[in-house]
Amino acid sequence: MNQKNEKKLNGTVIVTYRCNARCNMCNRYKAPSRPEEEISLETIRKLPPMYFTNITGGEPFIREDLKEIVRELKKKSDRIVISTNGFFTDRIVDLCKEFPDIGIRISIEGLEATNNAIRGLEDGYNRGYTTLQKLVAMGMKDVGFGMTVQDCNCKDLVPLYKISDEMGMEFATASLHNSFYFVEAKNIIHDRPMVAQEFENLINELLSSNSPKKWFRAYFNHGLINYIYSQKRLLPCDMSFDTFFIDPYGDVMPCNGTKEKEVMGNLNRQSWEELWNSKEAETVRAKVRHCDRNCWMIGSVSPAMHKYIWVPALWVIRHKFLRFFKKKKYSMYENKIVRDYRDGKVTKEALDRCSTCDLHAIVNDGLSQRSREQLADKTGEEIVDADIAEQMKKA
Ligand code: SF4
Repeated sequence: MNQKNEKKLNGTVIVTYRCNARCNMCNRYKAPSRPEEEISLETIRKLPPMYFTNITGGEPFIREDLKEIVRELKKKSDRIVISTNGFFTDRIVDLCKEFPDIGIRISIEGLEATNNAIRGLEDGYNRGYTTLQKLVAMGMKDVGFGMTVQDCNCKDLVPLYKISDEMGMEFATASLHNSFYFVEAKNIIHDRPMVAQEFENLINELLSSNSPKKWFRAYFNHGLINYIYSQKRLLPCDMSFDTFFIDPYGDVMPCNGTKEKEVMGNLNRQSWEELWNSKEAETVRAKVRHCDRNCWMIGSVSPAMHKYIWVPALWVIRHKFLRFFKKKKYSMYENKIVRDYRDGKVTKEALDRCSTCDLHAIVNDGLSQRSREQLADKTGEEIVDADIAEQMKKA
């Protein structure tokens, strides 16, 4: 391995594009991958050493061989976190029995009624919540909620945080994004001040805790206010330099936030060294340097927060100081753009134009030709429902 590849990377493995949820902010369930085309153990064995790996989908637990995948990834990654909708409780519990040190993040989009309306999963809230409780009862340390904040669930943000806090769990937040990965281009926050107000409340909850990790989470949520006002990222984006995503077809990409799928190479066909040092990878890196999508998702922000640690650290010190000595809480109006919007110096239309929302975009779903062919006479939902029904018969 050459010098360039000696350091460990941050990787996300999209093990499948099949999903059984019907979220209002993601159309991936309409565009599933074919199981026989999904990333194999052979390809996973070719991945480089990683300090962190996120396993995601689609819904990763739809894959019946997820245990074997985790077993392989454990050999090359210091830490693994799986993002899931929590529906397959038994599979999750079973996997965690073998790997008690992995992390599990279950997407819960609000309190019961809100979550079930957004996710479209029958009894989704109770299933997710029960799964989390079971994992905590098993003694799993790294479990938590993941919530994508939008207009219709923002009021549940702090109540959900409090539930997770009482259960001693992690609480990860995101907001709406558009990309080929989400098969979506129309996501946008409509009432920015309302949503920002809820983030402000959460930030103050986090800053008032005794946990340095939560103080840094507060900074991340401060960045989400900046993001929903369509502003430039607070930190540079270095995706594809020391971070990568790999999709179910073995295509290695910088991230999941691009409009079109950007491919650095294919790990089914190439070795990691060949792919990572290729001309195509350099071309993608040049695009990342000029990318103006300004995403603020944990996958691209967490590595940046580690790399440019002094930026969030100074923000945390300042806000803890203000809180402790001046009794001053965080205010969303610290952000110039939030003040400008309140004062009528910038319009909603102007902010909407700066966002990635594009009502006329034709969305590229990133599917292979073969996966797309199966959609000719069936919908993605029908394909995945039949697939799961078949799996359940076998079980
Ligand atoms: S800002 Fe970064 S994470 Fe977002 S699309 Fe651009 S390169 Fe990807």
